[in-house]
Amino acid sequence: MLTSSDFRSLAEEAIARCRKLATFSEDAGGTRRTFLAAPMHDCHREVSSWMKGLSMSVSVDAVGNLRGFYPATSPAAPRILIGSHLDTVPNAGAFDGILGVVLAVSLVESLRGLKLPFGIEVVGFSEEEGVRFGVPFIGSRALVGRVDEELLGRKDANGISVRKAIHDFALNPDEISEAVLSEDVLGYIEFHIEQGPVLESLGRPLGVVEAIVGQNRLEFSFSGQTNHAGTTPMNLRRDALAAAAEWIVAVETLARSTPGIVATVGFVETKPGATNVIAGEARATLDIRHASDRARTEALDELVRQAESIAARRGVRAKWRTLLSQNAVAMDPFLTEQIGHAIQKAGCEPHRMASGAGHDAMILAEKIPAAMIFLRTPGGISHDPAESVHLDDVAKALECGHHLLTQLAASQEFLGRTCRA
Ligand SMILES: [Zn+2]
Repeated sequence: MLTSSDFRSLAEEAIARCRKLATFSEDAGGTRRTFLAAPMHDCHREVSSWMKGLSMSVSVDAVGNLRGFYPATSPAAPRILIGSHLDTVPNAGAFDGILGVVLAVSLVESLRGLKLPFGIEVVGFSEEEGVRFGVPFIGSRALVGRVDEELLGRKDANGISVRKAIHDFALNPDEISEAVLSEDVLGYIEFHIEQGPVLESLGRPLGVVEAIVGQNRLEFSFSGQTNHAGTTPMNLRRDALAAAAEWIVAVETLARSTPGIVATVGFVETKPGATNVIAGEARATLDIRHASDRARTEALDELVRQAESIAARRGVRAKWRTLLSQNAVAMDPFLTEQIGHAIQKAGCEPHRMASGAGHDAMILAEKIPAAMIFLRTPGGISHDPAESVHLDDVAKALECGHHLLTQLAASQEFLGRTCRA
C-alpha cells in the first residue's frame, strides 16, 4: 500500500517531467509544440523512455498519438485508456494536456508491477488545440474514426497538408484506420488542469467533470444609417453601433442572471469606422455555453428576441447567422460516481462541475464511456507560461487515480462492460 509520502514523491517526479517536456519547443525561450512539429519527436522519445522503464510496450499510431500499453493479468483481458494531449498552444504553460499524460504514466508506476484485470493504455494525443491546422482534436478523432479526406487535405500556414505533415513525421496516413479504438476498451479517463478559477475559489484540489458544455457561436449584424456626426440630431439617428452596444449589455445581463450560462461578445466591427461618422453597420459575435442543451437554447432564443426588439426600437435591422452549434457531452455516470468515491478516499471533497472548454474526453465519449478529473489551477491561469499546479494537488490526483484503478479492478459491473453487443 502506498503512503501519502509515496504519492508526494510521484507528484514531484510528475511535475519535473512536465517541466522537462516544456523544453521541447518550436520556439526558443517559450513552449510551442504543435501537431507533428519536430520537437514532438523529442517529446515522444522522453515519454517512451519512462514507459519502457515500466515494461510498457510503446507505439506511435498514424496520426502521431503516442500509445503505451501496460498489460493485464491475462492477455485476453480488456483495457482502459488514460491520457490527454501532448501538443500545446503558442507561449504555453507546462501542464495543459501534458499533465494528464504524465499522470497516466505515474499511475502505472504506482502499481509497482502489480497487474490488474484490465490492461492500461496510456495515450498521449498528438493534437488537441487546433493550432496548426485550425481543426482541434485530430489525435482523438483518429480513435473514433473521424479523420477523413477533407481533414487530411487541410493545409497549415505554410501550405503543408495534414497528409504531408504525417509523411514528414515518418508516419503513413494510409494506416490511420488502424488507430481506431479496439473492441476491448472499457473506458477513457483523463486528468486535466481546470484552466479556470472555480476549484480554487471553493478551496478544493479536485473536481469531477459531469459534462462538457454545449456551445453556440453566432454572428449578429445590425444595419442602420451612416450619417454625419455633427449635423444629424440624436432623435433622427439609426445608429447600428449603439444598438449593438445595448444588445451586448443585454447579453451580459442575461448571462449573469441565468445560473450556469456563460456568454461572451468577443469581437465587434463597425462600418465605416470613423470618429465623426455614425456607424451604419455593426457586427458582433456571440459565444454562449451551458451544460444543459435546453438552458442554452432557451437563453439563445431570448438573446435573439432581444436583438430584434432593441433593433426595432432604434429603427435598425438585426440579422444573425450560426457559425457553430455543438451539444453538451455527458461524461459516463458510473465512472463519474467512481471518481467521486476515489476523490473522497484521497481525503478530499469532490466538486461536481461542468467543463467550459472542450477536451479529448468529449470526442472519445462518442464511442466509449469517458470521464474527467480536474485539478485546481492556481490563479485560474492557463495557456500562459505562468500556468502552474500545487504539488499537494498533484499528489491527491495520483492518490485518487490509484484508488480509482483499485475500485474498477474490483467492480464486476465495470469489468462486465467488456461484453459488447
Ligand atoms: Zn488541454
